[in-house]
Amino acid sequence: MWYRVKERKAVPYRRVYSGATTLLGAQTAILILSAGMSAYPGIPSESLPVSLVDVGVIVLAAVFCWAVNFGLVLAALALYNPTVRASDLFENFNEQLVDAAAFGLGFVSAILVVHQPLALLGVMIAMVVFGRSLLVSQYEHAARIDSKTGLATAGRWHDFAAEMLSRARHHQTNLGLLIVDLDHFKSLNDTYGHSFGDDALKSVAEELRSEVRELDACGRWGGEEFTVLVSDVGSAQNVHRVAERIRLRIQSIVLQPPDQTDETVTISASLGGVFYVPDETTTLDELLLAADSALYEAKNDGRNTVRMTTAGTAQPPADDRGPVSTTDSESGDDADTETVRRQDSE
Ligand code: GH3
Ligand code: MG
Ligand code: MG
Repeated sequence: MWYRVKERKAVPYRRVYSGATTLLGAQTAILILSAGMSAYPGIPSESLPVSLVDVGVIVLAAVFCWAVNFGLVLAALALYNPTVRASDLFENFNEQLVDAAAFGLGFVSAILVVHQPLALLGVMIAMVVFGRSLLVSQYEHAARIDSKTGLATAGRWHDFAAEMLSRARHHQTNLGLLIVDLDHFKSLNDTYGHSFGDDALKSVAEELRSEVRELDACGRWGGEEFTVLVSDVGSAQNVHRVAERIRLRIQSIVLQPPDQTDETVTISASLGGVFYVPDETTTLDELLLAADSALYEAKNDGRNTVRMTTAGTAQPPADDRGPVSTTDSESGDDADTETVRRQDSE
């Protein structure tokens, strides 16, 4: 089992704990087997009624072996994170089927050891294939969920956003798209270390998730860049409002650097947003480009701020950046492309 789960990143204490729960489960099974089997250890009886009881005892032992192991792991998860939902605890429950398969194969192996040891080769092949098929679902999970932040990966988010865009086009609804880039993140890394930077990324991800509840709507776009999709948002002002709330949430994060008890660190982010009004031509990449241009502007305007632009008004590109007009600090809004800009008044 240890070998089977080696692909997952695991800190040592968790490995020790899982090892201990596995041993406790096995010891429980041994207790049941030695109390209930006609001969234990040893070869079970071959007379029918007795061997039926023996099979029942083996099944019971397997169930307890599994339940003790699984129950202790769930208990540890629930204690570690008291806010976790029961549905999350049982999210990968079908992985437990692999344990059931292993018990079944173990049962057959025990018989083969006595009567036909060479046939164990077939059992081993089945075991390896089961193990690999389990890895496939783990890889699928890794392709969808960014391991550092728990947000959708860029690929998953892109698929989700494309789907939402085509729905918006079909139902003639609008949507908003935001790109969030943390300010001066490199210097945070340089000052406090990369793992502190990682903690900051996790905190930002938590804030994003609590602001935007739909799981796939927040993605980790790149290193310290995040994308957010707000469907059926109503107006550019509403997109701006969401962006502003996210900016304030990120600004309110207080981090404690390692080994420096009284010092606290805060971070900020710049956001570029775009409001999409349904049309036939605007693509997701154009929206992303538009949001990115607005982000670029937010950075240029001093960071820790939101800049917005509107796309999807089906006009010919104003310049070589595509159908996007970013704000000009002097000219204000122009007639073709609504722009919203608000400097935070700190
Ligand atoms: P700006 O305000 O212009 O955005 O400045 P910046 O330093 O944040 O610049 P940029 O966005 O280009 O910086 C990206 C930095 O993010 C570089 C890299 O050190 C850091 N980074 C990227 N991915 C990770 C990560 O997974 N963990 C940590 N700790 N840092 C990361
Ligand atoms: Mg960046
Ligand atoms: Mg940055």
